[in-house]
Parts: sequence; structure tokens; C-alpha cells
Amino acid sequence: MEHQAINLAQGFPDFPADPKLIAYVYEAMKDGYNQYAPMAGIYSLREAIAQKIHALYEARYDPDTEITITIGATQALFTAITAFVYPGDEVILFKPAYDCYEPAIKINGGIPIPVQMKGKEFKIDWEEVRKVLGPKTRMVVINSPHNPSGNVLSGEDLQQLENLLKGTDVLVLSDEAYEHLVFDGLPLQSASRFPDLASRSLLCASFGKTFHATGWKMGYCAAPAELMKEFRKVHEFNVFAANHPTQRALAKYLRNPENYLQLPGFFQEKRDIFLSAVRQSRFRFTPSKGTYFQLLDYEGITQEKDVDFAKRMAREFGLAAIPISVFNIDQADYRQLRFCFAKKRETLERAGEILQKF
Ligand code: PMP
Repeated sequence: MEHQAINLAQGFPDFPADPKLIAYVYEAMKDGYNQYAPMAGIYSLREAIAQKIHALYEARYDPDTEITITIGATQALFTAITAFVYPGDEVILFKPAYDCYEPAIKINGGIPIPVQMKGKEFKIDWEEVRKVLGPKTRMVVINSPHNPSGNVLSGEDLQQLENLLKGTDVLVLSDEAYEHLVFDGLPLQSASRFPDLASRSLLCASFGKTFHATGWKMGYCAAPAELMKEFRKVHEFNVFAANHPTQRALAKYLRNPENYLQLPGFFQEKRDIFLSAVRQSRFRFTPSKGTYFQLLDYEGITQEKDVDFAKRMAREFGLAAIPISVFNIDQADYRQLRFCFAKKRETLERAGEILQKF
């Protein structure tokens, strides 16, 4: 902000949410839905979510007992960790990792067990996961599509995880905040697709990310009834209920599946606008497979530390990005920056022009 840099650092759109969705919120307020919603969320929204999960992943969740509306994916993740992680429990997570998992694990007395994803393709070494899995493991946190790398777990990855956990009582926290943002015709994946994995998983999702309204902080958690029962014990006394008129609006908006089915195409176009500008620069990349983040590799330009380079880019060139080392074990620095491409065409083109100056 100090340098009035173009902000491709934080993950939020610079274009508005669908006016129809905004109108639905206003309508709900005018219709009087301004008091507490039910603790788990309004039934019609939970029902619409159950239908969406079934349509996309062929998995069934009972809206009554297996879905809870939350204040964004963040609250869903925190609540799930608080409900299940006790002092001394180990929680496996993959680095680079989104920043909210570890503090939530630690504040509950849990011990994060980080496993670094391999190479610039960010592959999970399942053999390494097998080695750190032990009697103290309570939970494994996965995140696909993955922030910050823009990678996605394949069906084979999820199958590997399913096999690895068979016969254990280890839970899976599946952060699917970017579930609808998958590109190049790759199938949308979810832990719910794999029955044994689904039986031990809490899925966390974000309407803010899905519908370009991160400021509304709306999301949900879906999990088998016996897990959801525990989740709700924490949710009830921490939150009680999420924003009511927004729930009404989302329930109505989800009735038209096109509202989420068009998202991969919409964001892929933005990724490609950004990448066509980057192609004319000295930055190197593998196109993002999912999320609205693109990593750029600057090894061929400078050997500066990524944090220093990101600061210089903001200060001297007016473009802000996130250095990836902050998400890695021991701040390992692979000379990569993360750029958010959930931006208007003109923002992406201006950013591209700046990148061509290096
Ligand atoms: N998980 C991931 C991977 C995210 O990138 C984000 C948002 N940056 C969240 C969860 C949080 O989502 P929400 O804003 O709905 O709380």
C-alpha cells in the first residue's frame, strides 16, 4: 500500500461478485431474515450443498446431520482441529502450507508434523508420509487445489492416502476452499469421492473463494454424522450460527449449477491472460492447475532471497507478490513468488508489463 503497488499478493478478486447474488442478500434482508439462523445453518443451504457434492463427487451427505455452515473455510478448519486435536496429538501437514493450520493445531496443544512436498512440481512422497504416520497421529491435513503452489492432488494421490490410512483411526482435514478452480479439463477432486477416505474426512469449503466475495466469510464443513456431532459441539459455543441473509442468498444462488460450473473456464481465461504476458518476460513457470494462484520462478533473473526480491518488486516496480519461502519448512527458498490472477484483465496486463521489465 505504501508504494501503491498492484496487489497480486493477497488472494482476493478485484472484480465484483455477481450482482444477482448481491441482490439475493438484499432481498433476504428485506424479507426479514435478520435474526439468528439455526445453529448448523439454514436447511435449504445445507440441502443445496449436499446436492452439489453429490452432483460433483457422487458422495452423499445428510443435510440434517452432516453439513454445517461456517464463517468461511477458516472457521471450519479451526473448529475441526479444535474438536479433534488434543494435547500431544500429531497432525501431519504438507509444506508449503496455507498459514492457518499450524497455529490452530498448536493452540489446541497438537504437534504439527510437516512434510515437504517435492520439487517444483510439489509432489507428495507418500512413502515419507507412511514413515511419519504413527500411534500419535490424529489427523492429516490436505489441501487441493493447493495454495500456494496451484497444484492439485490427483485421484491416485487420494487413493494412496486412502490406502495408507486404512485400518487406522486417523482423521483427514480436507481443505477444499478452491474446489471449483481446476483447469485444463482436470477432474474436480475431493476426499468425498473415495468412500473410506470420506468416512474419516472433514471437508472444508469457502463460498468467499467460490463466488468472489471473500469479505462475506461464508463456508461450510461436511463430514460423516459422528464426526459432525463433535464438530458442532465446538461450533455451537464459538459461533452458534453464521450470517443469516447471506445463507438465504447462497441457497438460492446454488439452485443454478451453472453458477459454479462456469468457474474453471472463467478463471482459466484469467490465468492465460496473465501467462501470455509472463511468457514475454524472463520469469519461468508451470501453468497453475488449480486455485487462482500462479507461481513464477525467477532463478534466471537474480539470486536474491525471495523475501528481498518480493520487497524490491513492490518498492521499486509497484507490484506485490508473496514469497513462497514463508510457507516452507525452515523457510526453504526456491526463488519462487506467488501471484494471484483473480483480477480484471487490465490489472493482469499492467502486472505483465511490469514483469517484462526484469
Ligand atoms: N484455505 C485456503 C487454502 C485458503 O487459501 C483460504 C483463503 N485464503 C482459506 C482456506 C480461507 O477461506 P475463507 O476466506 O473462506 O475463510
